[in-house]
Formats: sequence, structure tokens, C-alpha cells
Amino acid sequence: MTTTVDVVFAFDCSSSMDRTWNKVRADFFDPMTNILRSNSDKIRLGFIGFGSHSKPTTTFEFTSLSEQFRQYLDQIRISNEMPEGPKGVALALEDALNFDWRPNDLFSPHEKILILFTNGPPCGLFHQQNECQCSDLLVLAEKYLKKGIMIVVVGVEPDILIVDDLYCGLAKKTGGEYLPLVNASRILLDVLSRSLIEEETLGQLFRQLDWRFDVEMNSEFHFDEMKNRVDFVLKRCRTMSDVRQGIYWYLRLNNEGKDAFPCFSPTIRSNCSSPISIVHVFSDDEGYRSALPTVASNSSFLSNYQTNFDDELFSPDVFI
Ligand SMILES: [Zn+2]
Repeated sequence: MTTTVDVVFAFDCSSSMDRTWNKVRADFFDPMTNILRSNSDKIRLGFIGFGSHSKPTTTFEFTSLSEQFRQYLDQIRISNEMPEGPKGVALALEDALNFDWRPNDLFSPHEKILILFTNGPPCGLFHQQNECQCSDLLVLAEKYLKKGIMIVVVGVEPDILIVDDLYCGLAKKTGGEYLPLVNASRILLDVLSRSLIEEETLGQLFRQLDWRFDVEMNSEFHFDEMKNRVDFVLKRCRTMSDVRQGIYWYLRLNNEGKDAFPCFSPTIRSNCSSPISIVHVFSDDEGYRSALPTVASNSSFLSNYQTNFDDELFSPDVFI
């Protein structure tokens, strides 16, 4: 039985990704182009370049032609915007949803995956709500789940460490995974090429990874240390407001001052160099309780959601 795969890459083209782009192009995208050339009947690749959320994305629809995909890559330009604006991750994920994904077929397995490369927090997390008109990332994740599209997030250290737990939870909401860049090219090339020749799904192939050896080695990503916070995002957060509420309560529980940078990962809090006064961003944020009467809260995905999180969610254990 032949498996077909649609892949969209969403690449953060903000200025701080300049060196990363050259390396990822050589280590991952050029070999990926060769996989496309050898499997053009099975796999299609699309590409989205994104930067600040105030700028439109650069989108390249699916192609099964390796030469065309190479031309896509040649057209990618890394921004020179300094300082960088809030990252338009949600813009990229929303645009990717509108791609011409092939539908699932009962008789012919078909896989869909979006692979996001970024090095920092998405817009809508550390900003006032009225600063950002983008869709809510976690609501988008629900749409990906419903459409059967897995999200894999490739994080570029060290800046990503502020929010690797958020991105890990985001990916897991869709059945995907978070991968540190240092190991991502090897893993993704292996998993994607094996999915084309073996009768195993992308999800099964990701689950076969040796977590310590394949994923965490040589990186600062340590899942065991953040498992509680990933679970918090995965099981307790329906919207980004919920995440902001969690951070706000984390700050209160840890007696942080108003100038402290709200790293979601306490382990690297001391390494954060960008003091931003943000407590006011979260203090009036009610989280999803304020959104309960909305249409979104009636969906089947959300109906299984736990709603009694006042005592459990905000217990100090969540953020240890
Ligand atoms: Zn935004």
C-alpha cells in the first residue's frame, strides 16, 4: 500500500534566523529536495516564510517538482528588520490551513504534516491582546487536529527555551512533537523518507524515537523537566489567554517582580536578558473562563475539556 505525504514548512524569516536559514537549507532542505526528486509520485512540499505579524507571509503552494521547490527556496529572503516585531507564527499556521491538502482516503493512506521552524515566542503571548489581531494559536491547533494535520515544531536554541514548553504542548495537541534544531534535520529526513516506504504512520515513526539519544542529546531541551508545564498547555489550555493566565499565576507564586521576564521555563529564567514589564499584560486576563459562552467552547474537542482548574491548574506543582 502506498502512502502519500503532504508537507508544509513554515520558516521564521526574521533577522535573527539569518545564520540558521543557511544551515537548515544545507542540512535539511537540500536533502529534502532530493527526497522529493526520488518520490515525486508520493510527496508534495509547500513552503511559507513568515516574519513579523504585521507583514504578510510568503507562500508557495504544494509542488511535487523538485526543481520548483528549489526555486521556492531560492526566493526566500531573511528580513533585516531590527528590532524584530512580534513573530507571526499564527499567520503562518492560518495560511497553511488554506493550502490544497489532499483529503484522507480510506483505501490509500495519506499523511499531512506542518513543520514550523522558529527561535522565539509567538505574537499574542507577551503582548497586550489589542496589539495582536492574529488568530489564537491554540484554537488553530484544534483546527489542525480536526483536519488531521500534525504540527511538528523545530526550536532554535537558545532563545526558544523561553517557550519550548508552549511549543511542545502546541505540537502534542495535534499528535506532533517538538524537536530541538540540533537533531531535527536528521530526525525529519529519516522519518519522512521512511514514511514513504514503510507501512507506519508519521506518528508511529516519531514515537519510535529514543527520546534521550535521538531528540535531547546536545540540546537544552529536557522533556522530563517541563512535563508538568507541557501537560498544562496540552490538557488545560484552550486558548492563549489560558497560557497567559498560567504565566501570571506562575509569576505570583514565585513572587516575581514586575520587571522580571516571564520565562515559562523556570530553569532558564536566569538566562533571560530581555527585561520586559509584562505583568500588566496578564493581570486582567481571565483565561478561557471569559470565553466559555462562545461558539468555540461548544465544539466536541472542547467538551472533553476540564473546567474545574482553579485549584488544580494553579497549584504550584504545575510549575515546578
Ligand atoms: Zn499577532
